[in-house]
Amino acid sequence: MHTANTYQIIIIGGGLAGLVAAIELGKLYKVLVLDKDSYPRHRVCGEYVSNEVLPYLQSIGIYPITAGAKKIDTFQISTHNGKLITTSLPLGGFGISRYALDMLLYTKAKEHSNILIETCTEISFEKNLFSVATKEGNQYQASYVIGAFGKRSNLDRYLNRKFNQKKSPWLAVKAHYTYPFEDTTVALHNFEGGYCGLSKTETNAVNACYLTTYNSFKKVKSVVDFQQEIMSANPFLADFFQKAIPLFDAPLTISQVSFEDKAPVENHIFMIGDAAGLIHPLCGNGMAMAIHSAKLLSEVLLQKDLNNREELETKYTKAWSELFSRRLQTGRRIQGLLLRPTLAKASFTIAKMFPSILPKIIEKTHGDVVV
Ligand SMILES: Cc1cc2nc3c(=O)[nH]c(=O)nc-3n(C[C@H](O)[C@H](O)[C@H](O)COP(=O)(O)OP(=O)(O)OC[C@H]3O[C@@H](n4cnc5c(N)ncnc54)[C@H](O)[C@@H]3O)c2cc1C
Repeated sequence: MHTANTYQIIIIGGGLAGLVAAIELGKLYKVLVLDKDSYPRHRVCGEYVSNEVLPYLQSIGIYPITAGAKKIDTFQISTHNGKLITTSLPLGGFGISRYALDMLLYTKAKEHSNILIETCTEISFEKNLFSVATKEGNQYQASYVIGAFGKRSNLDRYLNRKFNQKKSPWLAVKAHYTYPFEDTTVALHNFEGGYCGLSKTETNAVNACYLTTYNSFKKVKSVVDFQQEIMSANPFLADFFQKAIPLFDAPLTISQVSFEDKAPVENHIFMIGDAAGLIHPLCGNGMAMAIHSAKLLSEVLLQKDLNNREELETKYTKAWSELFSRRLQTGRRIQGLLLRPTLAKASFTIAKMFPSILPKIIEKTHGDVVV
């Protein structure tokens, strides 16, 4: 069947992972990307990208530094009561807003793939063909569907994914501010029940993004109270929230952020980015993983015979697990440690005594440079 609504590949979700896959796969296949939101748009994200993916991004025509991204080579981490460690980042990274980065990718992806702003509501698979329905009342067909719909989507419920059946204790808040802050630094300041990342973006705005638990949050009535009463017990955050001038009308928030295991292929849908697995944000590596997983899947789909579905699924599942499973585990361990104040305190004392430890831990949550 060949109609205007028939594609070889449909990518659901045009965030980082979906757009990178659209750039790669659109060169060879007829590709449709569906995203529920129009571009450009702000996203809840720490906006620090590991240099792990910088050469690769450049190789597909995306130049974040030229777009004004800040080069970052220094990492600061502080305890709940403001004990600070400063260290250099083994690989470094750059600070760019998702508003700008997603737009760069969207502009490039449009050269190769069709991108429509529609919300996918149903995906069915019958006789080796996918049918995708959208809220806007359209139906699309494709031989392959890629799930790039992020950490939590209506489709996780629709597909009855296992991780979605569990309630998550995490929520996240993000906004941009004017505040004096080093261009070259990314900071991670801990507070009771969570941590807050600070880094600069291409506009010179400082992005403040924090992850916390509902338990911690429910002790107060509002975001402002939370920032003043709970987070500001850390003197670095107290200074930030006293002096920083908000640039958004209101912070962006997301809830039910889940770090549970997910499968890289489900119901014959190839999952990439957060839809395949979300690493704890404190690792500062989720975006690099999203981009890398899209590259990985594209290589599998570009090299192999598209008719051999089973072989493609096995190959991708194996490659994904080899690359990412260990990092996700390390991220979970570090998160568990930081949230227990006694353990966090002891770890800080050790890290202060042996400064080479911290860069080694950071390396364990990252991969090699992707080329
Ligand atoms: C608090 C927090 C801080 C973070 N900080 C950092 C950091 O500093 N550095 C870092 O590297 N990573 C960080 N991350 C992780 C990073 O944000 C993600 O790993 C990255 O955004 C994943 O990209 P993605 O393409 O998988 O998903 P997304 O960028 O979320 O894209 C998913 C897309 O799918 C679309 N979508 C969803 N459902 C549908 C549907 N039904 N139909 C159509 N479209 C749909 C959405 O609109 C969205 O555009 C952070 C995460 C959190 C939660």
